[in-house]
Amino acid sequence: MRAAGEAGLDVVAITDHDTTAGWEPAVKALPEGLQLVRGMEMSCEGRGQDGRPVPVHLLAYLFDPEHPGFAEERRRLRRERETRIRAMAELMAADGLPIDVDVLTAAAGPSLGRPHLARALIEAGIVESVAEAFRGPLRTGSPYYVPKKDTPLEDAVRLVTEAGGVAVVAHARARTRGRLLDLDHVRELVPLGLGGLEVDHPDHSAEDAAVLRILADELGLAITGSSDYHGINKPIALGAFTTDPAQFEALIAKASGVPVFSREDS
Ligand SMILES: [Zn+2]
Repeated sequence: MRAAGEAGLDVVAITDHDTTAGWEPAVKALPEGLQLVRGMEMSCEGRGQDGRPVPVHLLAYLFDPEHPGFAEERRRLRRERETRIRAMAELMAADGLPIDVDVLTAAAGPSLGRPHLARALIEAGIVESVAEAFRGPLRTGSPYYVPKKDTPLEDAVRLVTEAGGVAVVAHARARTRGRLLDLDHVRELVPLGLGGLEVDHPDHSAEDAAVLRILADELGLAITGSSDYHGINKPIALGAFTTDPAQFEALIAKASGVPVFSREDS
């Protein structure tokens, strides 16, 4: 939060994967003059352009964290993450890699993920960077790769909306991440409550951003931009991409779970 303030942002969103555990510390650390959007990024399964399932990230902003159905789904996702990371770590250990699953899980936060395994691989001297770990032992199709059961995209949009939040499809054209989501699947999410599309993102080319911008306009969706800042795990800078103020207002007008927070409110 301090870094976001120092980067000169007016608004920052915290969207850790599958957990709201960072909300309270973020509220406490928020500097004056910076507004905080409490949110989360969810691991979902959508329909790819080739008709096969494809991993999709859904941003969930300003939802009520107490909504029972959504809270249960977040617990399921975190259990799924832990089971999967443990299984991957055990496969590595069985293959002679010096990875200790208990040390790893004890050091991680509430939402375990492959970046935690990547850091363990760096500490063990197996790889030199998180990116190298994701291209190597952690990649889909690696002998150590174990899939997890993500939330169907429809269910996720419905849950976020029911919890008073606004659902935004994240980086839908990030080609470097693998196969792409069928944009007709995005259309099908609109009647379920989809509120926005992330358009400006470090993994989008200008052409792909333009395609998404046209689609968002056509469907009446808010257009967002963000850096997808990941601290030390990615080289991207805070505030590298931002959201237009009018689009931000349109986005938050769709939410009723928790308000945008600022120091002045407390
Ligand atoms: Zn993402």
